Amino acid sequence: MLKISDLKVNYGYVKALKGVSLEVKEGSIVTILGANGAGKSTTLKSISGIVPATEGEIEFMGQSIKKLSPEEIVSLGVVQCPEGRRIFPQFSVEENLRIGAFGRRKNIKNINDDYERVYDYFPKLKERKDQVAGTLSGGEQQMLAIARGLMANPKIFLLDEPSLGLAPIVVKEIFGIIEDINKAGVTILLVEQNAFQASKIADYVYVIETGNIVISGTKEEVISNENIKKSYLGA
Ligand code: ATP
Repeated sequence: MLKISDLKVNYGYVKALKGVSLEVKEGSIVTILGANGAGKSTTLKSISGIVPATEGEIEFMGQSIKKLSPEEIVSLGVVQCPEGRRIFPQFSVEENLRIGAFGRRKNIKNINDDYERVYDYFPKLKERKDQVAGTLSGGEQQMLAIARGLMANPKIFLLDEPSLGLAPIVVKEIFGIIEDINKAGVTILLVEQNAFQASKIADYVYVIETGNIVISGTKEEVISNENIKKSYLGA
């Protein structure tokens, strides 16, 4: 569904990605693991057209998306939930969701059905639909960020560190919801430092270090790798 080949991204003199290749099969959950500054966010940002690729190719459903605008990429169904949530704190929960649907334009008529579909995943958000988003807890804000992304009707959903700064029990809940979203037919590309939880739900795992993919495999292969155990799983 998504294929990245030899992707290079520079920020001035900083070589953030040095030739990343990876593939996400339709219907799967793929996780990219890596430490701070490894290039995880840059990979997602270049897929979404937010940072330009210096070299390489990005294909979605057989079509090159490398030169498309972020808006065009979203309209194809490649939707990102950014690191740090980036919700609109002064707006209500439901207004934030409405903003998520903004790019769809044509299908806005059925927005009430979409609110309900999203609230089925996140009953807590339904209870708080008129609450100002800035007063939600950290976990609820992360849920809102994911819910807002769903409003854009993703075919593939790119999630940038959804567990960041959250208590383990909330992380477990959010990862459970990500699995449910996947079961409903949305392909997932997840970027995480939280290696344990993130690899548990993955079908396939890539590990990125200083702009290069250094290991890839099924979750069983990656979890049993001794270097990964030491570096990412605290063994
Ligand atoms: P984190 O988990 O901390 O977000 P990451 O794996 O997502 O880490 P990136 O944000 O992709 O890492 O950063 C990769 C490299 O690119 C780092 O060395 C970072 O300092 C650098 N970098 C990222 N954004 C910029 C920018 N706008 N300008 C210059 N350098 C940048």
